[in-house]
Amino acid sequence: MPEQNTQFDAIVIGSGISGGWAAKELCEKGLKTLVLERGRNVVHKKDYPTANFNPWDMPHRGKIPPPEMDLDPIVSNCYAYKEDTKHFFVKDHEHPYVQEKPFSWIRGYQVGGKSLLWARQTQRWSKYDFEAPLRDGFAVDWPIRYKDIDPWYSYVEKFAGISGNKDGLEVLPDGEFLPAWEMNCVEKILQEKIMQAYPDRHVIQGRCAHLTEPTSEHLAQGRGQCMARKLCERGCPFGAYFSSNSSTIPAAEKTGNLHLITHAVVESIIYDESTQKATGVSVVDALTHEVTVYKAKIIFVNAACLNTNLILLNSKSNRFPNGLGNDNGLLGKYIAFHNYRGNITAAFNGPIDQYYYGRRPTQVMMPSFKNVLKQETDFLRGYMVHFSASRAGRPNVDGVGAAFKEAITEPGDWSIYMMMQGETIPKETNQVSLSEYERDNWGIPQLVVSVEYDENDEKLLQDFFKEGKAMLEKAGCTKINTWDSKQPPGLDIHEMGGVRMGKDPNTSLLNQFNQLHHCKNVFVTDGACMTSTGNQNPSLTFMALTARAADYAAAQLKEGLL
Ligand SMILES: Cc1cc2nc3c(=O)[nH]c(=O)nc-3n(C[C@H](O)[C@H](O)[C@H](O)COP(=O)(O)OP(=O)(O)OC[C@H]3O[C@@H](n4cnc5c(N)ncnc54)[C@H](O)[C@@H]3O)c2cc1C
Repeated sequence: MPEQNTQFDAIVIGSGISGGWAAKELCEKGLKTLVLERGRNVVHKKDYPTANFNPWDMPHRGKIPPPEMDLDPIVSNCYAYKEDTKHFFVKDHEHPYVQEKPFSWIRGYQVGGKSLLWARQTQRWSKYDFEAPLRDGFAVDWPIRYKDIDPWYSYVEKFAGISGNKDGLEVLPDGEFLPAWEMNCVEKILQEKIMQAYPDRHVIQGRCAHLTEPTSEHLAQGRGQCMARKLCERGCPFGAYFSSNSSTIPAAEKTGNLHLITHAVVESIIYDESTQKATGVSVVDALTHEVTVYKAKIIFVNAACLNTNLILLNSKSNRFPNGLGNDNGLLGKYIAFHNYRGNITAAFNGPIDQYYYGRRPTQVMMPSFKNVLKQETDFLRGYMVHFSASRAGRPNVDGVGAAFKEAITEPGDWSIYMMMQGETIPKETNQVSLSEYERDNWGIPQLVVSVEYDENDEKLLQDFFKEGKAMLEKAGCTKINTWDSKQPPGLDIHEMGGVRMGKDPNTSLLNQFNQLHHCKNVFVTDGACMTSTGNQNPSLTFMALTARAADYAAAQLKEGLL
């Protein structure tokens, strides 16, 4: 490839949620930006082959047949992996990794990454979350506080389109919201009863990245209103939920500064000792296995948490024999995730003359209510609760003939489903490293994952069962059933850490602008940068950190400081 085609102002590795934002911001600031994506291209609308399928259009009516589940048992455990979405998921057998302890690594390798598949729940962190490690004495202190990211939350929310109510809660700050989805009648009853019984707990509508009422900014992106079909993971032809494919990548393309190369597997970042900077990246073509070096002044690593760790660990040089920027040996360590093991179901004797409109793409939620203002329990941190009320498709009746047919024209009973999303505490022993022996199809060392739950997670789970049960009882529910899914870490798909931010280069890898302390023109703004996990769904925070870091990087570049 001629030299001019391999030289750019910026390289972005990965085109998922965070890479899409990096590409948009850097391109809009006038930087010639190369996005390197290991998967195939997925063009908005054109490449959503199942978007309008009915169940009978699919050989297995939407289900994954058992032989395929046996072949790919890890991804088959993901609730969203189905016949109509499977083309957007990585298959276990094609991309193996080493599980020292059970870990379900769920991935999407294509333009858009997991932004096509995500459940679109988007909550801001609060000041309590950024202060937590310092107050409670775990991980390291974040180098930023809520006020540093607040304007960037607003910035990304306006463009992405987030629906929600202004709830006025310090524990879950409000954002720039489009109108919220409505709670159904039973959820409203539960909201009232729970908040009466527990004045310090808040039952609110879940905030989500769906266009309930698109603004001119969204319409200009070619996106339209959500139709409440809830077929989102197939790709939305309306562009009604936020994905890189419908939103940030087209915005980057519009500038004329984007150069996107697909099937480009980044194996490492190249470091130059004389300038003490990264000069570019080495890429293996996924189809031909040919190796090319691309050069740029700045590099954004957005391959998603664990792949970002892998690329940095594999970026070895004389100066950094243990991985780029890894002087303190902490690269790959302090991996954390969200504890999703707690589930509760219940029956509710609700109004049988009422129903609800459409297939709402969000749930009701309760922001964390444990250990928020001070430490109150024998476990650290807390959990967010999500729940919803729904009616069965038909009543629970048996029979044959006209009476039976008549009976099943009515919807069935009301029931409640509740789940937890718990913060986990980052620990040095929860870590990833490179296999000495196993390589992938492209000759790159496989990732060894060694991550597990601990006693704190068990206590948090038991507390959720106790509190969730008590709240549902007080709200008048019956047949309350709790269960521990015992799912391995990773299935939450919220993995974070390994390249954490911090103030001190001795105890962290990245500074307050997501810049590697020891290689200033490399920025990491996906989940790998997270110092702690909070209990909120994390992607909105990745977006805000990315936009903030891109703004800083472009300004530094302009001033000749990078
Ligand atoms: C079913 C499901 C539900 C979810 N629900 C939510 C939710 O409700 N709320 C929430 O906040 N989050 C949710 N998530 C998580 C969310 O999708 C991720 O946090 C988010 O996509 C992470 O963004 P990212 O840019 O780091 O990674 P991704 O979006 O995964 O993008 C990474 C990209 O990098 C590419 N890549 C990887 N390695 C390389 C390499 N070596 N070279 C070149 N390219 C590479 C990949 O192919 C991919 O395109 C969910 C995820 C799933 C799958």
